Amino acid sequence: MYRIGIGHDTHRLEAGGPLVLGGVLIPHDRQAVGHSDADVLLHALTDALLGAAALGDIGDLFPDTDPANRGRDSGEMLRLAYEKVQATGATIANLDCIVFAQRPKITPHKNAIRQRIAELLHLETDCVNVKAKTGEHVGPVGREEAIMAECIVLLTR
Ligand code: MG
Repeated sequence: MYRIGIGHDTHRLEAGGPLVLGGVLIPHDRQAVGHSDADVLLHALTDALLGAAALGDIGDLFPDTDPANRGRDSGEMLRLAYEKVQATGATIANLDCIVFAQRPKITPHKNAIRQRIAELLHLETDCVNVKAKTGEHVGPVGREEAIMAECIVLLTR
């Protein structure tokens, strides 16, 4: 039996660094802003996982009104969400992600991100794929005002 889920997230960028993406610290002159550590990719992935298991979304599990979630490690939130998913008897078959960022170039960091996600979820690296697109210099991504991510996850039970 298969279940599919989709996740999307956006974070505002501001001057600073490094950029936290997929559980990896990427040297950059801009950083994502958010209540937690603002890891846009892990947030999209967490939502895709919860969606596939019909367990709501990341805001239901980790409300931004809860002081415990301030600056929180998104890898820990992802692991906790996956524990809830696994409690339903489901495991991940594979997942695929897209990062939307004008800068920095994500390609040199793709393998590190794949490995980190595989490690967080106890998956083989070939179950995890990460792609990247620029904003073609238009819109909030292209103007480097925002970073976005989308993710899709397939569960098997
Ligand atoms: Mg987020």
